[in-house]
Amino acid sequence: MKETTDHDDAWESLCEQCGLCCFEKIEDDSGTVFFTATPCRYLDVATRRCVIYDRRFDINPECIKLTEELVRELHWLHDDCAYRKALGVKRSRIKMETRPKRKGKKESSHNGK
Ligand code: SF4
Repeated sequence: MKETTDHDDAWESLCEQCGLCCFEKIEDDSGTVFFTATPCRYLDVATRRCVIYDRRFDINPECIKLTEELVRELHWLHDDCAYRKALGVKRSRIKMETRPKRKGKKESSHNGK
């Protein structure tokens, strides 16, 4: 069983469980990231909760554990992500749009709580 520290707990408690990171994203040739309306298969879209949260890294290899370093580096996290806001990280090329999953490359997802 994995041990957690107070720092881990404090960090994870920042997540507002909005589920914004749990939708597929695509990036166009200009580097603009678009959020699609396609959720991770493990996201309960009604509650915005991950249904496999405790085992998400074992079950879903695409799920990423968000660390401070990653939140500062990842260009596909939504501006409204609580981690991003807490660290004061801003990005202007994110667009919330529904687009078909044809163009661009798929970005990874993270399952919030
Ligand atoms: S990690 Fe950020 S975007 Fe994802 S659910 Fe938590 S607050 Fe929302």
